[in-house]
Amino acid sequence: MDIAFIGLGHMGGPMAANLVRAGHRVRGFDLVDAAISASAEAGVEIAASAADAASDVDVVITMLPAGRHVLAAYRDEGDGLLTAARAGTLFIDCSTIAVDDARAAHDLAIAAGHRQIDAPVSGGVVGAEAGTLAFMVGGGAEDVAAAGPLLSVLGGRIVHCGGAGLGQAAKVCNNMILGISMIGVSEAFVLGERLGLSHEALFDVASHASGQCWALTTNCPVPGPVPSSPANHDYRPGFAGALMAKDLGLALEAIATTGVDAAVGRLAGAIYQAFAAGDGARQDFSGIINSIRERSEGAHPA
Ligand code: NAD
Repeated sequence: MDIAFIGLGHMGGPMAANLVRAGHRVRGFDLVDAAISASAEAGVEIAASAADAASDVDVVITMLPAGRHVLAAYRDEGDGLLTAARAGTLFIDCSTIAVDDARAAHDLAIAAGHRQIDAPVSGGVVGAEAGTLAFMVGGGAEDVAAAGPLLSVLGGRIVHCGGAGLGQAAKVCNNMILGISMIGVSEAFVLGERLGLSHEALFDVASHASGQCWALTTNCPVPGPVPSSPANHDYRPGFAGALMAKDLGLALEAIATTGVDAAVGRLAGAIYQAFAAGDGARQDFSGIINSIRERSEGAHPA
């Protein structure tokens, strides 16, 4: 297939390279020279502009930082992707963006005579490089089926979550569970420390009891019980605090627009935003345990 790939950053760069490796012709564009040269080395044809990349291709994939970048790239006055692409082009947005922005991007693409799905990913840079991303997809069944062969090159698991925007909805809901559960696991470990309970003892109990969850058994926030977790490697990500803060910010937007009484989700969003305002931005999100411990140090028993 002929594919335009817009946004050749940490995720988009290796994804575009995997599409080239699978035999597709990929025309890429990014604003940053380093991203452009790395992709050129991987066999991506570098276009003069996003619009230039998108003219005369079958599929346009975007992997951009946020909703405003996707919407701007789609509609940039007179020189956007939607104007440049030939009618009926399949647009696949893999960026993580707000559900409302995803639906707006979908509507713009449809109004311009194209097809469009949202297909955010989980699996991080490691998954992008290995071609093992998981896709949460929103859009029409025919368009999702048409995207299937390309998404299979990039990842192992593809879940069609429903209509436009529902891939983003699934991502936001999953990451809200993750953010909340990591805070819960971390608070429990710090409470256990104060009560004289060893990390190993709490892990041995909770990992086989009702406290069991991914934040505990895969990404355990204390060193020791799960040797591969970032806590054993100075909290190197993994999944960076900045990305968790971003995704919880999208959850907060969705909570506000739907009016859901998600008190714990809102609190988790605020906790991770404070974490990511400092060094936590570049640490694994499980480093939240250190800020909980620090804030507990000055506190006196009631
Ligand atoms: P990144 O900042 O490394 O890459 C984004 C790229 O988009 C940059 O190279 C930037 O120059 C480029 N860009 C911005 N505006 C552009 C424009 N108008 N035209 C062309 N290029 C443009 O970010 P990333 O880590 O690759 O993340 C991309 C998306 O994937 C984000 O939405 C992020 O939330 C999501 N995501 C990231 C991870 C991760 O682990 N990094 C995991 C899952 C999802």
